[in-house]
Amino acid sequence: VTEKLNALKENTNNTVNATLDDLALSLAKKVDTKIANGKTIGLLEGIPFGIKDVYMLQGTTTTASSNLLKNYKSAYTATAIEKLLDAGAIPIVKENCDSFGHGSSSENTIFGAVKNAINPNLVGGGSSGGSAVNVAKDYTVFSIGGDTGGSVRQPAGYNHVYGLKPTYGRISRYGLMAYASSTDCVGPIAKSVEDIRIVLNVMSGKDVKDQTTYTSAEINAESITDASEIKSVGYFKNFIESDAIDSKIKSDFLKTIEKIKAKGIEVKELDFFQSDILVSTYYTLAMAETASNLSRLDGSNYGNRIDDKNLKESYAVTRSENFSEETKRRIVGGNQVLSQGFSDEIYLKSLALRDAISENFEDDFKDVDIILSPVTPSTPPEIGNSLKDPHAMYLSDAYTVGFSLGQLPTLTVPQGTETGLQITAAKTKDELVLKFANFLK
Ligand code: GLN
Repeated sequence: VTEKLNALKENTNNTVNATLDDLALSLAKKVDTKIANGKTIGLLEGIPFGIKDVYMLQGTTTTASSNLLKNYKSAYTATAIEKLLDAGAIPIVKENCDSFGHGSSSENTIFGAVKNAINPNLVGGGSSGGSAVNVAKDYTVFSIGGDTGGSVRQPAGYNHVYGLKPTYGRISRYGLMAYASSTDCVGPIAKSVEDIRIVLNVMSGKDVKDQTTYTSAEINAESITDASEIKSVGYFKNFIESDAIDSKIKSDFLKTIEKIKAKGIEVKELDFFQSDILVSTYYTLAMAETASNLSRLDGSNYGNRIDDKNLKESYAVTRSENFSEETKRRIVGGNQVLSQGFSDEIYLKSLALRDAISENFEDDFKDVDIILSPVTPSTPPEIGNSLKDPHAMYLSDAYTVGFSLGQLPTLTVPQGTETGLQITAAKTKDELVLKFANFLK
């Protein structure tokens, strides 16, 4: 634990200013004492992990990498984090990310851009950039990211590690700061399928504090080594034939498809919605939900407050001064699509499109067991560009957001293409995703 804490201190751009040293070291001592007394320890006991700074951990600051919450102290602990603490894992860092999860590069943050683990001139990916980089660099054994539209899978891909977005509702969102509640998922990032399995098992389960959760069976180690039930795999023809895809990502992906065929699995080409429809549906809903979720952040109950002439002015100044440009863009956009005169044409239409997307997935999974896709159409951009061209940044999420709208389990594996391969199965079939990841190795 001490070694990992020291490594983290030299790399401040992956971290936020909540220092967990005292907590981490005292927890580590307890494990040491247990070992010294000859007691057996559990699978996760003493294992150092990181937490994207959007999870409540009582007594520590939870900033969401935003000025508005710079000094905000968590009043309670998120269910997922509590379960990891109960299993003996040791939180050693709160991790830098895009403010409130708004971004795809981890540059929309008050703590400075997260640098890519493989090439520091490139972005770390987002929004859980700090979490993916910390795992890639071995500062943490695993990290807990949050994935609303790709924020675990995309940075995992950019930094060549594993990242899982479980089925929506498998892990409680209680204590995860809400971005877009209908797609927000708690997701582990780690260096192996086995580590993902272990952490997923610990965090999963029904929680009375999140009514969207469901009970799921534990996934055992043995079962994910047998993929014999997987007979067919599909991929979206239009993703791969699009003009927007990087040529290397495309040729690597097609090589992976050939490899899978050679292993005796049937591969089917599938039809799907065009990228611009997926991106606009996702961003309409995500912005609408975030405008609503963030309306509570006006300085009266949480965070930095700037006083002005009267209460109304104080709200306005607090929000204008403390939210980033990108976050404000989303709040304004979200309120617009929810307002009279626009909601029928834009918001309600997006809800209908989301249903159509989910139905498309349901039909696909009658035909294939797994859907494969590159994680992104493009390679990680250089630091300094993404926030200048938000539209291009949104389009880079083209391959991740559809699976979020479908609430499906989907895993990034660091192989297949430069930015990773996404393995997706039908709702609640997270186990099948892990099986296929092992089978591909
Ligand atoms: N890049 C996407 C967005 O900005 C996804 C972010 C996320 O999953 N938190 O909305």
